[in-house]
Order: sequence, then structure tokens, then C-alpha cells
Amino acid sequence: VQSLIDQIANDVANLVGSGKVADYIPALSCIDPQQFGMAVQTTSGDSFATGQADTRFSIQSISKVLSLTLALQARSDRHRVGKEPSGDPFNSLTQLEYERGIPRNPLINAGAIITADCLVSDHTEAKQALLDLVRQLAGNSIHFDEEVAASERETGARNAALAYLMKSFGNLENEVDQVLDTYFHQCSLAMSCRELANCFCYLANAGKHQDKAIVDIARARRINSLMLTCGTYDRAGEFAFEVGLPAKSGVGGGIVAVVPGELALAVWSPGLGPSGNSVAGTEALKLFAKNSGLSIF
Ligand code: GLU
Repeated sequence: VQSLIDQIANDVANLVGSGKVADYIPALSCIDPQQFGMAVQTTSGDSFATGQADTRFSIQSISKVLSLTLALQARSDRHRVGKEPSGDPFNSLTQLEYERGIPRNPLINAGAIITADCLVSDHTEAKQALLDLVRQLAGNSIHFDEEVAASERETGARNAALAYLMKSFGNLENEVDQVLDTYFHQCSLAMSCRELANCFCYLANAGKHQDKAIVDIARARRINSLMLTCGTYDRAGEFAFEVGLPAKSGVGGGIVAVVPGELALAVWSPGLGPSGNSVAGTEALKLFAKNSGLSIF
């Protein structure tokens, strides 16, 4: 595995820096695009890393899987969010309007805002509950990046619009400001590839982290299916075609992927393609699936 990922780092070097760093969140716009990291964590406890695998970055939408995991520990509100790919951009309002405030799936912004609403209802300290879960999975020093969270709040008009629209349809239990504060903080989590690979290994391990159930096996399977069909923005079909692994990307340039039964891996490179997925990261995952033979298909 080590030589495989070292070779991948070499092979994608010419793509590192291509694409565009997300700049609609000002705090993310100044990240140096010339960075690449990759890490693998196997279910049997081995770990491998290459490049800047220990540099922390903003995990952004990758956090939607973690908040969903926490919400599913307490409930399954199937009527409040769907499980179909949206085919629209992650922050689109149009579909939400004609589908009467029910987001297509929990991995687009509207769906993740519903998940954040569930956390606010279920926990006295929703942000802390999420941080506790992430620390349990990946280490005690993980924290929210308050500067990124504040930057998102300042430029979060579209997320506020999504939340108010859902509130108008009666699909939000709590106050918009409180729900968005939870959502912006979860997106601001700062983690490295190595920490993310560790963190997501429960989804490769039937929902278990070090023999402790984080979610039951049925839910782990469902989360993986959602990642496969909805985890990489409106490029999920192409991504399944090229990579063939459950994955979730974020506009910070990170992507996590899961090989059920085997391993979790994380890649990071800040330059994004038109759909919001890391350009070098996507290529690295494509090479990993091809050269390891570990695509699920
Ligand atoms: N916090 C970002 C937003 O709400 C998440 C976007 C993403 O990574 O897809 O716009």
C-alpha cells in the first residue's frame, strides 16, 4: 500500500495546483493550492500516508457524513430528508422549493441543515456532541476553526435561504440561527488526511470503531450507499463510474473514500474542478481504485 500511494502522489503531481480554490468562503480563499496528501487506514489497524498527510485543512462537506452518523444514533426521520441524488449543485434552492422543503438527501447543504436541526433537538450542546464523536474517532486535539466558521456565517446567505425555506414548509424544528451555527461549525472542522482516514474507518468496519459500535451495520451500509450515490456533488455518477467507491468530498479539497471490509482513505489537494471536487484528489482515488483492484464493482 505504501508504494502504491507513493506512486500515486508522483503520478498526480502535475495536477496539484490545477483547478480553483474555493473562494466563496473568504477564509478558504488564501489556501496554497500546491499541496497534496493521502492516507489509508485499514480495518486491521495498519496505516499508510504520503505527501502532506498531516496538514490539517477545512473538511467542509465531509462533515455531513459525521453529523449524519451522530443523528442516526438517536433517530431515523425518513420523512424529513430523502435518499436520492439531486443532480443539482449542492446549495441549490430550486429543487427544494418544488419538493416542498424536503431535501433530496443528507449530503447536500439543505439535507445537512436538517441533520444539524436534529442534532440541536437531540443534544443540549449539539456542537460539542459532534466534536466528542469526532474526537472519539480520530483524536482529542481536533477542533473547530472559529475563523472559518465566522467566515461562513458572514457569507452564508444562501444557506440561510435554504434554512428559511425549509422552515416555511415546517421542516425545521429549531431557530434558523442556532441550526446554522451548528452547521457552519461542523463544516469548519480542521483535520488532516491521516485523521480523516482514521475517523472514517468505522464505515469500512461494519460501523465499529475499535470494537465499539458507532452505528449498526445496517446504518453503516446505508451511509456508504448515500456516499456512493450522493457524496461527490453533481458528479456522483461520473465518480462512481471512474472510482467506484463510496466517497464524500468537500470544498476544502478533501475527499474520503471507503472500501467496505478493508479500509478508509483520505486525499487532499485544494484545487477544485467545476463540480467542487478536488482535481488531484479525484485522480488519486481513480488511480488507487484501478491499481489496487479495490473498486467495489
Ligand atoms: N460549508 C460549505 C457550504 O455550506 C460546505 C460546502 C461543501 O463543502 O460542499 O457552502
